[in-house]
Amino acid sequence: MKVVFEKSVAGRRGVRIPQSDVPTSVHLKKAYLRKQPAALAELSELDVVRHFTELSRRNFGVDSNFYPLGSCTMKYNPKVCEQVALQPGFANLHPLLAQLKGGKTLAQGALEVLHQMDLYLREICGMAGFTMQPMAGAHGELTGILITAAYHRDRGNRKTTMLIPDSAHGTNPASAAIAGYEVKVVPSDSRGCMTIQALKEMIDDRTAGVMLTCPNTLGLFEPNVREICDLIHRVDGLAYYDGANLNAIVGKVRPGDMGFDIVHVNLHKTFATPHGGGGPGAGPVGVAEKLVRFLPTPVVSKAPDGTVDLDFNRPESIGPVAPFYGNFAVVLRALVYLLITGRDGLERVAENAVLNANYIKEKLKPYYDLPYPQVCKHECVFSASRQVKENGVHALDIAKGLIDRGYHPPTIYFPLIVKEALMIEPTECESKETIDGFIEAMIEIAQKAAADPDSLHAAPVTSPVGRLDETRAARDLNIASL
Ligand SMILES: *Cc1c(COP(=O)(O)O)cnc(C)c1O
Repeated sequence: MKVVFEKSVAGRRGVRIPQSDVPTSVHLKKAYLRKQPAALAELSELDVVRHFTELSRRNFGVDSNFYPLGSCTMKYNPKVCEQVALQPGFANLHPLLAQLKGGKTLAQGALEVLHQMDLYLREICGMAGFTMQPMAGAHGELTGILITAAYHRDRGNRKTTMLIPDSAHGTNPASAAIAGYEVKVVPSDSRGCMTIQALKEMIDDRTAGVMLTCPNTLGLFEPNVREICDLIHRVDGLAYYDGANLNAIVGKVRPGDMGFDIVHVNLHKTFATPHGGGGPGAGPVGVAEKLVRFLPTPVVSKAPDGTVDLDFNRPESIGPVAPFYGNFAVVLRALVYLLITGRDGLERVAENAVLNANYIKEKLKPYYDLPYPQVCKHECVFSASRQVKENGVHALDIAKGLIDRGYHPPTIYFPLIVKEALMIEPTECESKETIDGFIEAMIEIAQKAAADPDSLHAAPVTSPVGRLDETRAARDLNIASL
């Protein structure tokens, strides 16, 4: 396919407007003016529309088909959330309005959105206060760890290490390291959960806290979660809950009730905002009562007269962590999602997410190795080890084979503790027919691996580009040849 510049024909236009008969007045310095017109493609309106429509068809997204990418999956993204986020009253609001004299009254609707979301997330997570500022899950983690550091400074604690299990999402150790902590990796046991004995041996006076994803990246609920929190609290450490994928437990159990002090949730995974290509996201952070005073400024709070205000006067706060109030439109979509889903709906989200993952796990168990066979939560992790050993077919080949069958591949080679991992998350919103179609494709691929492994080595053959040298593609991108 040609790039848009190759389709350009000199003088071709989409729209022609008459020459202006008003004298132009230029205020920019001459040095800043273009000497020649910008080198834009010259095309008719039809050419442009067809070009970009064709490009969009080469994209794969939740609007195309099943998207079982484990862990970072987009769950349910109702279109009504988009419609509300596009309302001009929200979309055109200037972010500084709420801080201008008299502007607070005009911004009450938007401030109320932030306040309502704070209250709902407190209720869902069992926390005492939330900030909406962090603009991603990883950003939420960093905010949480900075709050941890503020807590220890305030207590005069000398803490240097953060404990993180080997199944953790890569952002966990990265966030702890950026905040200045030394990361110690806690090994998982044969059941895929944190080894309590190892944890006990690693905890000492320098332990600042533990970061736990629960259910973990194997989709398994940590059975010793209370004990882990108690052990950490005994040395005045803090327990951090990575709630990026809250769909596994939402409406059922609350991190605060399990003993956690800090939690982040990914609104762009569990609560409605489509994501990809780096954003936009929101990773609100919730904290227990003893940490509320460290939350980033401004804190959104309600005055006794019912007006919502921004509180900048928080001397112990870690300060702002994002421009203005974070990604407001993402928070807004999440609020709409919560309002249309309701309390009972949220419980069903968790039930269906878990049911769907276990259905896939049971159906595919005869065909792929399942290193951790317990009941899983929102995702299940298979291994392609059997296919590698018997047929020389790797997780990568299976993923590419799925592309030819019209599916987005699952996450592969993660978590790192599973060799040849295939991490599948169906989400709560897919129909049985869709999931059955995916299962059939996976079974067919397992059979192909035995009968005709080379067809999988050659996959994908139906996509605009075939098997790429992925390292070279990233470093030496050449889209013109596609
Ligand atoms: C996605 C994810 C993160 C990071 O979230 P981002 O918004 O991508 O920064 C952290 N932990 C877990 C378990 C995740 O799935």
